[in-house]
Amino acid sequence: MQLALDPTTRVDCPRCHQVVTPLRPWRHWKTVRMAYFGGLGLALLGAPVILADGFVLIPTLMLYMVAIGPINTLAGQRAVCSRCSCVLE
Ligand SMILES: [Zn+2]
Repeated sequence: MQLALDPTTRVDCPRCHQVVTPLRPWRHWKTVRMAYFGGLGLALLGAPVILADGFVLIPTLMLYMVAIGPINTLAGQRAVCSRCSCVLE
């Protein structure tokens, strides 16, 4: 998910040599990542309950742990040129 958050900020693209509005990732992805780790800490505190229910909660926790990959990818995106997708930052 990329959004042009500030349309007034224009950047000179080194690849296409034009002044373009960069496509910036959603700025709250890093907050989402921190919230993810907070949820993981809560799961650690609730480990006795989670381990007692191995049929539903353990697979749910595994799915939750798989979610860190896409969250890390989205949190690590950088601004790109809106014309040629060159990384600008
Ligand atoms: Zn460009």
